Amino acid sequence: MRVLSVASEVFPLVKTGGLADVAGALPGALASRGVTMRTLLPGYPTVLEKLDTPKTLRRISGLFGGDARLLGADVDGLDVLVLDAPHLYERPGNPYIDSLGLDWPDNAQRFAALSKVAADIGLELLPRYRPHVVHAHDWQAGLAPAYLAYAGKKRPGTIMTVHNLAFQGRFPAELLRPLGLPQKALSMDGVEYFGGIGFLKAGLRLADRITTVSPTYAAEISTVEGGMGLGGLIGGRADLLSGILNGVDEAVWDPATDPYLKARRRGNGLAWRGRNKAALKERLGLTTPPENMLFGVISRLSEQKGLDLLLAALPRLKALGADLVVLGSGDAALERAYLAEASKDPGRVGVFIGYDEPLAHLVQGGSDALLVPSRFEPCGLTQLCALRYGSVPVVARVGGLADTVIDANEMAIAAGVATGIQFAPVAREPLEHALARAADLWRQPKIWRQMQANGLATDVGWQRPAAHYAALYRAVASDDR
Ligand code: ADP
Repeated sequence: MRVLSVASEVFPLVKTGGLADVAGALPGALASRGVTMRTLLPGYPTVLEKLDTPKTLRRISGLFGGDARLLGADVDGLDVLVLDAPHLYERPGNPYIDSLGLDWPDNAQRFAALSKVAADIGLELLPRYRPHVVHAHDWQAGLAPAYLAYAGKKRPGTIMTVHNLAFQGRFPAELLRPLGLPQKALSMDGVEYFGGIGFLKAGLRLADRITTVSPTYAAEISTVEGGMGLGGLIGGRADLLSGILNGVDEAVWDPATDPYLKARRRGNGLAWRGRNKAALKERLGLTTPPENMLFGVISRLSEQKGLDLLLAALPRLKALGADLVVLGSGDAALERAYLAEASKDPGRVGVFIGYDEPLAHLVQGGSDALLVPSRFEPCGLTQLCALRYGSVPVVARVGGLADTVIDANEMAIAAGVATGIQFAPVAREPLEHALARAADLWRQPKIWRQMQANGLATDVGWQRPAAHYAALYRAVASDDR
């Protein structure tokens, strides 16, 4: 079975968030299940420079205002197709926004091009490659199922996966023709969305199946309250919707071999964590004794992630005798606020603003508990890594966080199955209560160690999710290939 996966970011070529991790890990996870996955992504400079001897597979002329090439390459075993279209992608920095933080004004064309080429590959742009399924990720690939649906030809099966419903790709209706969509597409059953064109909406309406990245998020986005404008549409297609949890890449996130850790995991002992904690504290300038409990955060700093609530709860965290390290970037006001907290109390609050993969690993290996107070969270990856690294996740009971952490309530502790702490609703007081519960359990080493051991034994890999995807591909695959 051949599946073409289409994504705007793919680890290790380009990453701004969890989508890249998922798109990068899926092909490897599916290989043993009879699924051969190729991945199409845009040729941003950072991607092109990482390609070793790419092959030009096809020249494409007149792709939304310029000529392009489809390149094929192998990147650490990933079979990638890279759309090299300099007029669309040859820009520095973040894939979606300019240096002022504004969306590129031609994002509609940039990601319609990705989707159009994906659809064309589905319709035999490459003579020797005919995928059975086109799997589109997020709004940037959302038009792929639409182009295929309107092609009027035998087409591959299509799957639309929502990694984050907050990003929808909305553009003016006047772009219909310039984007090469037929007039009839501008309808409720097509790409039309609140009078304009909705890329994600198009994919959700026109793909054969919809998936999102956890069962609870699937339920949340099927409702008017959680659907961010798309709840009616998604709820109406609920029989075609599934929630498949993400895994983590177990080769990248392996405490036994992790090159970024000061000390690596050996056997079932936990002494290695203490050395990482010391290294982490030293790196961020924390000066408290090793016995102080250390909370960690690795996150985009945004409204979604609830880190304003953590700021408000910080006095309580400190009153509990605990310390905090934060690795993140994003919202300028939050960045400033966390830096201010660190300079107020540098020995107990360590903040690193920026994106730092090695430091993320050290926070996982060195913090005692990992905080994820998100207002909504489709799946969340950091709490999965935390389980694998023996940092106890303290999470909001939403989306994938609700599905992946077993709350240390009395029964779960008695049964010896707890892996973390959940709180609800997502507000300052419940968060403070969760911090206090965590600090209390931390002072009960037997229970705490059991929770860590449970986390370390949790299967957070890709094999289970991969089985779900493989079954879904089989269900929608076209049989004319
Ligand atoms: P989202 O995709 O919403 O940002 P996820 O939890 O799904 O959130 O994925 C976030 C990914 O990005 C994780 O792999 C996490 O380790 C990583 N990450 C987030 N912020 C940083 C940062 N500042 N430095 C390094 N890695 C980060």
